[in-house]
Amino acid sequence: MKKRALNHYRFGQKFGWLRRITSSRRKAITTVRKMYQKIGLEDRPCSICGSRDFSLLAESDRYGFDLNKQLCETCGLVQTMPSLKPEFLDSFYSQHYRPLYTKRIDVDYDALIEEQTAKGHRFKKYFAEQGLGDALPNTAIIEIGCSSSGILAALAPCVRSVQGCDLDVEGIAYGKKHYGFDLEVSALPSHLPTSPRLFILSHVLEHLGDPLQSLRNIRGLMEDDDYLFIEVPGMNTVGEGNYGYDLWAYFHIAHVSDFTAGTMNVLAAQAGLDVLTCDETVTALLRRSDAGVKPWAKSSEDSVENVLRIEAIFRSK
Ligand SMILES: [Zn+2]
Repeated sequence: MKKRALNHYRFGQKFGWLRRITSSRRKAITTVRKMYQKIGLEDRPCSICGSRDFSLLAESDRYGFDLNKQLCETCGLVQTMPSLKPEFLDSFYSQHYRPLYTKRIDVDYDALIEEQTAKGHRFKKYFAEQGLGDALPNTAIIEIGCSSSGILAALAPCVRSVQGCDLDVEGIAYGKKHYGFDLEVSALPSHLPTSPRLFILSHVLEHLGDPLQSLRNIRGLMEDDDYLFIEVPGMNTVGEGNYGYDLWAYFHIAHVSDFTAGTMNVLAAQAGLDVLTCDETVTALLRRSDAGVKPWAKSSEDSVENVLRIEAIFRSK
């Protein structure tokens, strides 16, 4: 049996069990756990580089789910492994994710819109900082995973057009009713405006079972003048205070991949995308590369030692 690198008890199976039975969310946790036990987990190679050389980090997440977090020694990506199967993820996101997260059965879209709109304004500022300010009025925005469209609503006044897609049926219905935007229930857009375009993928990639194939699909939609904006919750920001400095709180059943700037760069290279800028938030701006796959190297920062460094910060608090 592999030795767990994060050796504190809260990353272990016993604490996971205790957490499951004492949590105020225990009903939702039991339902979700039964579902992945029935469907089964998948022992598969690393989702972005294909290696099977993993180091075990943790055996339980913040809800007490008995899922392992492992670090790929070839590319550095931290991921849930064995992994949750696509059929589990489909059903989990459509029925169980928000109730587990918010402790409510119905989704409070009005509250969600507020959060999304704030994000949209932040993104607008980011685009201006990256020198896209003058180009925005002539740019068409396509958000993949737009939910109820709060981000698009914040951007709409300063761009050529907005469009979105999401598998969240209720979110799309809410966005259509409130804003009248061009929205569809779909994983990818079925039609596209003309270039130049800016594709937005905000807090989506960390949830997807196959992030590499998903990015390759998006690259297939892109032309030379288009941009792709990605944001995911960066693991290294935990060491800076996010999630209360606590990796245990960051490790989450819904985070299939736990990205850093380094592993986002590897993923982009594998998907044939040029990274113009990427920080540890992780917020990144990319363009289509001529090469379908680009050479990459693992960052020395993406290591078990780095994970232990983040945990040491938490323990010193
Ligand atoms: Zn890998």
